[in-house]
Amino acid sequence: MVKIDSFNFAGKKAIIRVDFNVPFNDQKEITDDTRIRAAIPTIKKVLDDGGSAIVMSHLGRPKGTVNPEFSMKYVAGRLGELLGTKVLMAEDVVGADAKAKAAALAAGQVMLLENLRFHAEEETKGCEAADVDAFVSALAAMADVYVNDAFGTAHRAHSSTALIADKFDSNSKMFGFLIDDEVTNLDKVLKSPQKPLTAIMGGAKVSTKITIIENMLGKVDNLIIGGGMIFTFVKAMGGNIGASLCEDDYLDLAKKIVEEAKVKGVNLIIASDCVAADKFSNDANTEVCAAGSIKDGWMGLDVGPETIATFKEVIGNSKTILWNGPAGVFEMDNFAAGTKAIGDAIVDATSKGAFSLVGGGDSVAAVNKFEIADKVSYISTAGGALLEYLEGKELPGIKAIRG
Ligand code: AMP
Repeated sequence: MVKIDSFNFAGKKAIIRVDFNVPFNDQKEITDDTRIRAAIPTIKKVLDDGGSAIVMSHLGRPKGTVNPEFSMKYVAGRLGELLGTKVLMAEDVVGADAKAKAAALAAGQVMLLENLRFHAEEETKGCEAADVDAFVSALAAMADVYVNDAFGTAHRAHSSTALIADKFDSNSKMFGFLIDDEVTNLDKVLKSPQKPLTAIMGGAKVSTKITIIENMLGKVDNLIIGGGMIFTFVKAMGGNIGASLCEDDYLDLAKKIVEEAKVKGVNLIIASDCVAADKFSNDANTEVCAAGSIKDGWMGLDVGPETIATFKEVIGNSKTILWNGPAGVFEMDNFAAGTKAIGDAIVDATSKGAFSLVGGGDSVAAVNKFEIADKVSYISTAGGALLEYLEGKELPGIKAIRG
């Protein structure tokens, strides 16, 4: 597989799939340009080598029709500022304007295509195969090289994220720096972890994490379960959980996971104690009690001190750590201790040489809240694509390039 850092783009036109699906305010001003910033190193590499860049993305959900509200022109200005060069805006995606501008693109120039999702053929749903192929071919024909740098959409088998790769030979397609980084770091956890490997799974619901838990059971030495999920497990094992979060449809599956962990020799750690509250509020009355002895009407909103001590010990002895989801309702200060303790233990282990990867919306929010983002090894911000990767699924956008 070709690697972007060792590829020379001189004299080449590269078509680069990025994720510029950024938020706007009512005046159509970008309110968070993180995703544009994230793509700059890849685009710059192409330009600095003496190549030209045709940049393409989706924006919002125009659902296959041209809708000026979702025009990429609202992104072009900011992209130009960040690159320090003028960005040519194509008036269409694969129409006459894009084709003409692509043909005339000189070394060092950047063109931004219109919103890919102005064409139903991008997402392919309900389209004839021949129409999808014509769209993919038209995109590919504009360039010599294909670069995918949109990890956030790598779990979609769309025209620009996956199908287009087939139009380029293996020496002319590659990941951009962003995907390369994500895949390299995720594989340090999933494919070649230093042992012991500990996964910390938290968050509200078992249902949204169950596939990841099942996949991780086959890989980890320690599996820590935190957050609201705990109580489905505790109830499944016969505990009283009061009014705590629980998914009754998942009780059997929780029992199965406990059994499977035993069979696989995984050290499964479910909270032994918790901070229970008489209402879902930061000024609720609270008490520390066993996770299976919560009073009627009370709810567990954080893990307790005994559990925190266990978490710390296990994390401290780990060489590779994956953290996805908070241990409690960390948004409320009185229920943030468990999540903060996990963060601190991870920072400590990382400073002693462990590799730590934090991913998934709420754990990233927690890492930012506790100001430890620069003290963990890697933070993945990819959302759905990350979760599918952790579930053990093959992402179409990754497979299309890596094979
Ligand atoms: P998720 O999106 O599934 O990762 O869930 C994250 C959310 O779970 C956060 O907003 C937390 O406040 C919430 N959460 C964590 N622990 C609990 C708990 N014990 N009870 C209710 N919600 C919780």
